[in-house]
Amino acid sequence: MVFSRAERTPSNNDRTNALSPRAYQLRLALLVLASALCLYAYFWPHAPASKQTDSIQPPIKTISSLASIDPLPSSADAPQDAAATTHIIQPGDTLSGIFSQRNIDAATMNAVLAADEELLALDVLRPGNTLHFEQAPNSIELLALSLVVHPGRTIHYRRATDGFFEFEEEIKPSYWHEDVFSAQIRGSFYTSASQTGLSDGEILQAQRILEDRVNFHRDIQVDDRFEIVLSREMVDAGSTGQTRIEAIRLQGAKLAQSAFLHVDGNYYNDNGESLSRAFLRHPMQGNYRVSSPFNLRRLHPVTKRIAPHHGVDFAMPTGTPILSTGDGVVSRIGNHPYAGQYIEVEHPGQFKTRYLHLSQVQVKQGQQVSRGDRIALSGNTGRSTGPHLHFELHVNNRPVDPLKADIPTATRIPAKEMALFRNRVATLVAVMDNRLHLASRMKPNAQNTDG
Ligand SMILES: [Zn+2]
Repeated sequence: MVFSRAERTPSNNDRTNALSPRAYQLRLALLVLASALCLYAYFWPHAPASKQTDSIQPPIKTISSLASIDPLPSSADAPQDAAATTHIIQPGDTLSGIFSQRNIDAATMNAVLAADEELLALDVLRPGNTLHFEQAPNSIELLALSLVVHPGRTIHYRRATDGFFEFEEEIKPSYWHEDVFSAQIRGSFYTSASQTGLSDGEILQAQRILEDRVNFHRDIQVDDRFEIVLSREMVDAGSTGQTRIEAIRLQGAKLAQSAFLHVDGNYYNDNGESLSRAFLRHPMQGNYRVSSPFNLRRLHPVTKRIAPHHGVDFAMPTGTPILSTGDGVVSRIGNHPYAGQYIEVEHPGQFKTRYLHLSQVQVKQGQQVSRGDRIALSGNTGRSTGPHLHFELHVNNRPVDPLKADIPTATRIPAKEMALFRNRVATLVAVMDNRLHLASRMKPNAQNTDG
């Protein structure tokens, strides 16, 4: 694949760490593998015409100030010959199981989980993710733990003073590479989209973006066409596995719908009208005092340490109804020793919300929820100084201040952003038209082989 025209967005929290010889070999092997995959994808005859379309600035900026927490003790503080081990997470693995294999006690595991309260990255172990342990050579004391989420994101938990652990996110500079997936409908939308190489998750995402406008079972007919512009996040070591839909276009006998991703993370049609309903600003009715704002350098009320606070806390009596701030799907339900009972909801577009310290969860994992639906009762579970709700809003997988973020609360793009949006639409339409022309030029050949 040719990435030369692609824009790169370096983030200023990128950190270069000295690599051990083993890690270096591993990285080298990954690089070779990634290059081989790229070559394979490029020459594979059914691969989408990626060369045509790579380019274009990512519409969402990396929010780079988020990981700027206190400098952590440098790795020079750790003994040179610390014992390093690696564990690749398998289905069925538990954190306590992995820790006890290394004779790391429950108190240490709890200290790591306490550091993870604002991320909840260790609460759901994803098979294929890697854990690197660094233990003191002559004791089993855990000095550091790293979780490699994907080649672009590693979270380091390091032992600080007093038995506390601190976290730091290492986020590599990334860029987005666009591909067009297009086809004429043969059978269902799902079958036709699946044959172009889109994953089930990506097809579902496309259907959710347009679900208020299109009935995918009834409205789509044979010979209708679709184009989907999908971008993949890339770092130097290869794909991070993160994808997002930039644009969708459906055209047919009775059908003309399109969706374009705007910089605010929401989807709009070509007139700039929102395809999903506006978000609520607050996840409850009535006014409750903010007991702790979103703050990347907060003095933690319990530990008395400086650590980021990735949400906003509202003081409220236990049992207050908690509402989903947008339409979406319950993506996670958990019970964490520090975050307490919590819910995560994924919304169409690039949004995710989290609700922590609940007393009662009133939805199931995978359940569809609408804006304003009651999903839980507030509580005081986990590590908490009093009854409150901790509410988080993530845009493009980064937490932002839910009270200040530029969330889609309007039903159309504000006038001052229309020029930017129209430019982006023109680019994406050209990308899709180009693919369409390419497909029609290739048609005679396909007919020849059939005959
Ligand atoms: Zn909080």
